[in-house]
Amino acid sequence: MRLPWRAVPPTRTASSVPAGKPNFVPACSSTDAPSLELLRDFVARARRMFVITGAGLSTESGIPDYRSEGVGLYARTDRRPMQHAEFTRSDKSRQRYWARNFVGWPQFSSHQPNRGHRVLRSWEDGEKLHWLLTQNVDSLHSKAGQKRLTELHGCSHRVVCLGCGDITAREDLQKRFISLNPAWRVQAGAVAPDGDVLLEEEQVLGFRVAPCERCGGILKPDVTFFGDTVNRATVQFVHDRLAESDSVLVVGSSLQVYSGYRFLLAASDRKMPVAILNIGPTRADHLAELKVSGRCGDVLSELQPL
Ligand SMILES: [Zn+2]
Repeated sequence: MRLPWRAVPPTRTASSVPAGKPNFVPACSSTDAPSLELLRDFVARARRMFVITGAGLSTESGIPDYRSEGVGLYARTDRRPMQHAEFTRSDKSRQRYWARNFVGWPQFSSHQPNRGHRVLRSWEDGEKLHWLLTQNVDSLHSKAGQKRLTELHGCSHRVVCLGCGDITAREDLQKRFISLNPAWRVQAGAVAPDGDVLLEEEQVLGFRVAPCERCGGILKPDVTFFGDTVNRATVQFVHDRLAESDSVLVVGSSLQVYSGYRFLLAASDRKMPVAILNIGPTRADHLAELKVSGRCGDVLSELQPL
């Protein structure tokens, strides 16, 4: 059954972020009661929901996204994310990347899950949620205790060696960076969604990058950089979990990146009901029976107070 399209009338509300704190949640309309009821019904009907989350869920934990109007990194800075080929080909690019990542790590790694993450975790307990696919690399679902989880683009809390494939904890690498760079002190600027931070070129010179302890190879965050592709086995695994599910809910993603969008195409092929909770348009709006605009944490905790 496909419900007719539901749009939310634009009624602007004031930001709930305290003065002086950076706000990474875009301005949005408050969610109207009818839309909320339709979403409540959608969730109530689901028994094996497949949920896809994106950066819009983590903005309420203080992590900026890339694309949001006015507050996303693309709007606020001329920075663009690291490209995979640039990272693997260039010593200088890796030095710049790791220097920035080193500075940003204490703040980035300290972010905590918000109400939205906790509601999704509770749906796993209540056997409402079959599988959660996140495009985020911030580990907030893991921190919330989510188990039925695939991190489609990896996780910035892990490091992979491009030589031998060894996986280590990013926290351990931080200790190695500190001992390799005892005199290196830079004030952290704005932290990006991938834990990167803004630094001037001259600040980067002199930063010593750590090699793999096992083979001396190149270390890279265990995340899929732009220009790289997601592992085939992971994609198939997610398709299989999708096939076992009865509905799809998108939370806080514009689905602009194909690696996530493809699962909406697959859901559409399977004629699965799709609902989208996001501020602003998404690439999959035409595939959804219900579109709700609102802050993810606010709306999810309205559906399920914890
Ligand atoms: Zn290695």
